Amino acid sequence: MRIPFVAGNWKMHKTVAEAVKYVKELRGLVKDVDGVEVVVSPPFTALHAAAEAARNSNVGIAAQDLHWEREGAFTGEVSGAMIREAGAEYVVVGHSERRTLFGETDATVNRKVAAACAAGLTPLVCIGETLDQRERQETFDVLDRQIRQGLDGLTGERIAQLVVAYEPVWAIGTGRNATPAQAAETHGHIRKRLRQWFGPDAAELCHVIYGGSVKPDNIADLVSQPDVDGALVGGASLDVRGFLEIVTRSRRAV
Ligand code: PEP
Repeated sequence: MRIPFVAGNWKMHKTVAEAVKYVKELRGLVKDVDGVEVVVSPPFTALHAAAEAARNSNVGIAAQDLHWEREGAFTGEVSGAMIREAGAEYVVVGHSERRTLFGETDATVNRKVAAACAAGLTPLVCIGETLDQRERQETFDVLDRQIRQGLDGLTGERIAQLVVAYEPVWAIGTGRNATPAQAAETHGHIRKRLRQWFGPDAAELCHVIYGGSVKPDNIADLVSQPDVDGALVGGASLDVRGFLEIVTRSRRAV
């Protein structure tokens, strides 16, 4: 049985002080909230302080990216081992903003996913089509390629622990979320591919969460779809009370 998984993606928001204040408040608000996994992803600068603030609570901490090497001459980059040591347990990989603004490809996503697993981090692997691709009816082809290439070489055991975030690019930060029917259809397709390519056990355990303009008023309809196991939340996660609403409305046995 998959417990809903809700992660807040803060992107380039919040100072160290703001991150600590948020996490301290959130840990109190969710201390008696069960039946849902709660994660927030601060920027690198606030990762360690946020992880300290979340220690011994049911709030998990994710980094927003990583480099695939352990260390070396890669100015500006941060490795999985560094992120793990800073106290995070998760890392977002292949977010569409990284793909479109910073040239990330399925090949780099694949290296990062492998590096994250090697460092003991759980990757939240983002996939999703652009509006053009959806209108050209290429959504499933795009997702197939992103899954095949991005997760290439992973064992079924690894897939079972993974979080796949289906984030249609046209829904990110636009206020236009996928309809529950669109999410159901696409998540069903992703689950089918995971089953075909990595086996039934892996597909059954892997979380497939939805991202793209999730808000307190649309989360319940989205997570009521059979293969939608929670959400990756951008803008609406920046306010702790709003994020709490999304967390509590995500609870259900999926
Ligand atoms: C995201 O950044 O992953 C995201 C889904 O953003 P938003 O919720 O703001 O659309």
